[in-house]
Amino acid sequence: MLVGVLALQGDFREHLLALAECGVEAIPVKRLAEVNQIDALVLPGGESTTIAKLARSFGLFDRISERIHAGMPTYGSCAGMILLADRLLEGAVGQESFGGMDITVRRNAFGRQVDSFEADLTFKGITAPPIRAIFIRAPWVEAIGLGVEVLASVEIDGELHPVAVAQGNLLATSFHPEITGDNRVHRYFVENVCKTAVA
Ligand code: GLN
Repeated sequence: MLVGVLALQGDFREHLLALAECGVEAIPVKRLAEVNQIDALVLPGGESTTIAKLARSFGLFDRISERIHAGMPTYGSCAGMILLADRLLEGAVGQESFGGMDITVRRNAFGRQVDSFEADLTFKGITAPPIRAIFIRAPWVEAIGLGVEVLASVEIDGELHPVAVAQGNLLATSFHPEITGDNRVHRYFVENVCKTAVA
């Protein structure tokens, strides 16, 4: 199994390292041939409008979207979650996403006061201890479709906001497990999403 990490902008190196530590072969994806070659994809954190625009100008956008919609296992962290969402709130004017996940995502949802923060999360399907989640100008999931499962949430002012969701072969987190050195979310993606899809 070959896992690609979209390497146009953002923290793709950290994802490549985390995947390698999980024992899978992982390559940076910048070209159409690589999009066609991979069995699974990771969309990194970064800036979702920039990543989408670069994917367009490199001629990758439509093929990535097509492969995601055709069932290629894909994990998006932060900007990657935005790129997987079928619907966006507070997106930039004309902002595109690859889509595929039946979720409505609010960009920069936590507001300026809590621009960046950390929290310990219970993550369904990952055994204790809790996941240390780092949020950086992060989105949250505002609404989910019927086939979407919430794996982790954050409570803000008494309201629960989903920050990790799964649907079929797709996984998305608002936070960045790739920068914590704890690879359990990547391992979850490889073991529970990719291998199940390939099997
Ligand atoms: N706010 C960024 C965006 O809209 C995402 C931030 C991140 O990936 N850390 O793309």
